Amino acid sequence: MVKEKLNSQQLIDLENKYGAHNYHPLPVVLAKGEGVYVWDVEGKKYYDFLSAYSAVNQGHSHPKILKALVDQASTLALTSRAFYNNVLGVYEKYVTEYFGYDKVLPMNSGAEAVETALKITRKWAYEVKGIDENEAKIIVCEGNFHGRTTTIVSFSSDPTSYTNFGPYTPGFIKIPYNDIDALEQALKDDNVAGFLVEPIQGEAGVYVPNDGYLEEAYELCKAAGVLFVADEVQTGIARTGQLLACDHENVVPDVLILGKALSGGVYPVSAVLANDNIMNVIKPGEHGSTFGGNPIAAKVAIAALEVIKDEKLAENAQVLGELFRSEIQKLVDQSPLVKLVRGKGLLNAIVINDTEDSSTAWDICIKLRDNGLLAKPTHGNIIRFAPPLVMNKEQLLDCVAIIKKTILEFKK
Ligand code: PLP
Repeated sequence: MVKEKLNSQQLIDLENKYGAHNYHPLPVVLAKGEGVYVWDVEGKKYYDFLSAYSAVNQGHSHPKILKALVDQASTLALTSRAFYNNVLGVYEKYVTEYFGYDKVLPMNSGAEAVETALKITRKWAYEVKGIDENEAKIIVCEGNFHGRTTTIVSFSSDPTSYTNFGPYTPGFIKIPYNDIDALEQALKDDNVAGFLVEPIQGEAGVYVPNDGYLEEAYELCKAAGVLFVADEVQTGIARTGQLLACDHENVVPDVLILGKALSGGVYPVSAVLANDNIMNVIKPGEHGSTFGGNPIAAKVAIAALEVIKDEKLAENAQVLGELFRSEIQKLVDQSPLVKLVRGKGLLNAIVINDTEDSSTAWDICIKLRDNGLLAKPTHGNIIRFAPPLVMNKEQLLDCVAIIKKTILEFKK
């Protein structure tokens, strides 16, 4: 039987019929990626301005990362943690030195790493800080996005994330983001173990807190004997123009959560890093994952982190981010359709001058697609722009031209 090649619409129909409807993708079916570009099934080329939610910081199909993946997959893929393997320890030394921590706990997805950090924080609260059993609380921020597990959605403020998934995990205090007074107030509770925070709220719409917020928050946590837990799953690994977004304020989180670009997007790799006084609360059997720390993940993560340094991707994100925002600011000044541009490094967003429940941002993303650039609204009227960090200046200006043309020509 000759197999007919399926076109975009046929492939979309397959997903609609056979896949759970837990996503609402832009109608484009991708078949290939390289660097800052992706191609659809019909061969049309696009700039990828989402980078798989910042997992593909190193660009699609980076040859060095792919080589690590293929070499290790054809040698030894998975041992489970029932045995030692000859790659994990090497990776653990590399990643802890790279980020400046005593220890790492390897996991797979971002949500798993967040769960891991929450468990470590609670255990530390009972065994080191001395909080009474089952009384520990963790402060989180309104508008947060930390993943999709039952516990994580328990402290989400987005009804789409939590509705009908109860009963919810207790033990979380929600405060407004970017509000130091609210944090100071919440820290007065002696049962607080940690403060979980995104240095920039990515999914919420790229909300950048005031300068000094992270540093002040960190100092308040220190004074209260509370762990500062940074979720850098989206902001980390060069995305915002520094290795970590916390580096912009010289804050070293007590617990650091990484995912996404830790693998350059070729494999699910996540991690929690902390020093011994915190990480040593975890003993054999108390936490783990069959795939966490597997040899492929370990090799891929080393390669992905080397690429970040070798190709100076943080520096590139910093320079191109400034250029992007200054160019898009001209558009904001020119077009009544765009209210503002904000962001850090190459994690940026524009806010469309329309109500949150309007379809304008979505319709603009469809036009951007037609013009060769893929982006997606985060919430209602906000469009996030996060290209791979291997982009060069010429490509960025080309993208700016596409965005300007699309917005200026856009008619509702
Ligand atoms: N934390 C943050 C800040 C994120 O942006 C995300 C995903 O977008 C996650 C956690 C969850 O990561 P994953 O989708 O790999 O579970």
